[in-house]
Amino acid sequence: ESTTFAVRVAPLGSHGQVLVLAEDQTERRRVEAVRRDFVANVSHELKTPVGALSLLAETIQDAADDPEAVRRFAGRMQHEAARLTYLVQDLITLSRIQGGEPVPAPGPVPVDEAMHEAIDRCNTKASAKDITLVAGGTEGLSIFGDDELLVTALRNLIDNAVAYSPEHTRVVVSARPAGDCVEVSVSDQGIGIPEGAQERIFERFFRVDAARSRATGGTGLGLAIVKHVAVAHGGEVTVWSKEGSGSTFTLRLPAFGGQAVPVPRTTIPL
Ligand code: ADP
Repeated sequence: ESTTFAVRVAPLGSHGQVLVLAEDQTERRRVEAVRRDFVANVSHELKTPVGALSLLAETIQDAADDPEAVRRFAGRMQHEAARLTYLVQDLITLSRIQGGEPVPAPGPVPVDEAMHEAIDRCNTKASAKDITLVAGGTEGLSIFGDDELLVTALRNLIDNAVAYSPEHTRVVVSARPAGDCVEVSVSDQGIGIPEGAQERIFERFFRVDAARSRATGGTGLGLAIVKHVAVAHGGEVTVWSKEGSGSTFTLRLPAFGGQAVPVPRTTIPL
């Protein structure tokens, strides 16, 4: 990577001295480039479904006397409109939390409740693939944060686990105390992530396989949202994965009261 300096020279006094100011602009340039890429990506992601919608509308006009074709194209329009909605929703969520601001009004959040709510919201998609969602780990843990953000992060992780796993597998969501933090993990038996890509998957719009991600309805923003939720809480998200075996994502968030209180509990299958 190259380093960029902005150099300014100003005369100083009457003896021919000059003042040389060299400012390292590498970081500013990098941030600008990331922003430009993001805007280009958003425009592209918005243009695709909008283009499909206008094409489908035209096709429907031409097929007006074939009710079966009209029904089929209208279904595809609904599908594209849904994709657009998810994308806009994710962009709004991301813009709310990516400013680097801490969670506005943190409070105690029972982790079990957040886990079950996230699981409930993913159950329909999981059942369609006969994937069993299992909640387990330690009971009675609370984090210090925002309940909606925690559910959003978990839902994104569970959604991915389901999307990138074959049928008839299991996804396990579990929580455990870890010092002054709580660790919440989502493990799947899915396709896994190549080692070289594991660092990049948290970037906005980075996908290992774009066609596959789009086919599963992915916006490419899910893990960026998860990462920013973690950062806003002063926590982190990490991934362990092996291609062909599965992946485990772990959210590490501050415990409420500074100390996670473990209460043993057996795994409850849902
Ligand atoms: P997407 O909407 O594409 O799923 P994400 O930001 O949620 O966007 O994930 C980025 C990429 O990381 C995905 O496109 C996929 O390639 C990979 N990925 C995320 N979660 C998993 C998982 N549980 N198993 C395998 N690959 C995953």
